[in-house]
Amino acid sequence: MKIPEKMRAMVLEKPGTPLKYLEVPVPRPGPEQVLIRVRACGVCRTDLHIVDGELTEPKLPLILGHEIVGTVAARSAKVKKFRVGDRIGVPWLGHTCGQCRYCRRGRENLCDAPKFTGYTLNGGYAPYTVAHQQYSFHLPEGYPLAEAAPLLCAGLIGYRSYRLAGDGVERLGIYGFGAAAHITIQVAVHQGRQVYAFTRTGDAETQEFARSLGAAWAGGSDQLPPEELDAAIIFAPVGALIPAALRATCKGGVVVCGGIHMSDIPSFPYDILWGERLVRSVANLTRRDGEEFLALAPKVPIKTEVQTFPLERANEALNALRHGQIHGAAVLVMD
Ligand SMILES: [Zn+2]
Ligand SMILES: [Zn+2]
Repeated sequence: MKIPEKMRAMVLEKPGTPLKYLEVPVPRPGPEQVLIRVRACGVCRTDLHIVDGELTEPKLPLILGHEIVGTVAARSAKVKKFRVGDRIGVPWLGHTCGQCRYCRRGRENLCDAPKFTGYTLNGGYAPYTVAHQQYSFHLPEGYPLAEAAPLLCAGLIGYRSYRLAGDGVERLGIYGFGAAAHITIQVAVHQGRQVYAFTRTGDAETQEFARSLGAAWAGGSDQLPPEELDAAIIFAPVGALIPAALRATCKGGVVVCGGIHMSDIPSFPYDILWGERLVRSVANLTRRDGEEFLALAPKVPIKTEVQTFPLERANEALNALRHGQIHGAAVLVMD
């Protein structure tokens, strides 16, 4: 296959401005890197936080996108893990230092000197991208490429959030029913848990979607569930959901915040935290999370619901996500 010199990619030049469809060079793989023919790239809420300037350290200009699926188009001589033609997935965690105290203790998601795909490294809103072999995954068989894309962040971060909610959870609340939630609920139901889904107030359509995926109950985030939750995961970037989730959670329960950014948390009375309730965040992922989750996905089997957009309509996809108009996950697809 002949690899072109140039491509047109969606580029962020400056936070607060729309992406531009620009001609840029096709990258060449460095040591340990593969060149990927991108076939699909998920659109994540984190991308919105970057475009909006809420995440303040992007490389600029930047090609967004950290839910990359495609095929290996070329590789450097050092790459052994992938062959040309292999299906490949690239997540948010693009590189870690391997030396800091977090990396040495198996907590590479907390690395002091990490690189992130589509944030400090160019990502997948483009026909080609490069990625480090050791931070890329083989994709499970049986998933069409567009449907595999949301597994790479919504799925992975959802899975890590779910794992941190604890093992003994019978009743799990999920606040914010978008891409991550629609995947996480399938894992939770598969493992015999009851799921309580909380959406924007009055969003009957999303509540129905949650019930269709097995939710025992679905309602607005201003409502209390019919029974106390053992744990709750918050995927919506809304700080006010933390006291709401604490009020819905039983003694000893945990509230897990799955997003990378949230609006400020309003003050709340200590008694809703009392009783050994915990509030914790989830940061990034480890490669082990990725291997585990991608092995689990076909066993559940997780089915993703995707709304696809051509690459050059990425701004439209971001806006639809911003306004809660995406059912499941938004995915950019390339020819
Ligand atoms: Zn993401
Ligand atoms: Zn490190």
